[in-house]
Amino acid sequence: MVETIVALLFGLLIGSFLNVCIYRLPRDLSVVQPRSFCPACEKPIAWFDNIPLASYLMLGGRCRKCGARIPIRYPIVELLTGILFAVSVAGLGVSLPALKWCLYGALMVGLAFSDLEQRILPDEFTLGGAVAGILLAAWVPMQFGYVQLFLASSYSERWLSVGEAVLGALAASGMLWAVGAAYSALRHKDGLGLGDVKMLAAVGAFMGLQGALATLVFGSILGSLIGLVYIKVAKKDAASYELPFGTFLGFTGLALGFLSGPLAR
Ligand SMILES: [Zn+2]
Repeated sequence: MVETIVALLFGLLIGSFLNVCIYRLPRDLSVVQPRSFCPACEKPIAWFDNIPLASYLMLGGRCRKCGARIPIRYPIVELLTGILFAVSVAGLGVSLPALKWCLYGALMVGLAFSDLEQRILPDEFTLGGAVAGILLAAWVPMQFGYVQLFLASSYSERWLSVGEAVLGALAASGMLWAVGAAYSALRHKDGLGLGDVKMLAAVGAFMGLQGALATLVFGSILGSLIGLVYIKVAKKDAASYELPFGTFLGFTGLALGFLSGPLAR
């Protein structure tokens, strides 16, 4: 119980850092320097106005100095990250598997909201996530359903686990890339950003091939349905509206990952 609360608080802090990343990475700004500032009045934010979740509530969602509205994304990202960390530790204890799912949760939240706001999926999260997922597979065993089709079962469990992560990273993203390339060739326009392909590689590195494929299929269905409804309701131009596909991959990947990981038992 105590661990879960500590994980929640730690998740709130990481969520706060993710908010910095979501604002700064797509703008090619450093996530370390300068200290937090209000984007509206550019005044630095005091530490007591920068406490995850609590400061947003106490300030009524406005900058203390200029009164500009703080985007609702800030408390949502903090709370969501906090909950994901708490769920990971509650389900798996203080362990390496819990750390893996905390990292995965943070990555997906960061990517989903970067794409929603900026239509950018930073390489730090996508490629960095893919590498981290493959490395973690050496210590946190993955279920290797497909990799045994390619590797003899005489390999050790560790190598099969890493193999599944590599296969997950390459195969599903490769398929998505091929579909995107075919679409571009047929329609003579870009249908899909390379960021989505790299993001799916990160999903596969953490969840394996089956998880990455399921994320691709359900994320595409969800994105098409919600995208179509949104274009109708908000009266957007369907030809020019850019769907934040990474946002749908992110939320689908979160749901499937946590259902198969920390929430599975
Ligand atoms: Zn301000």
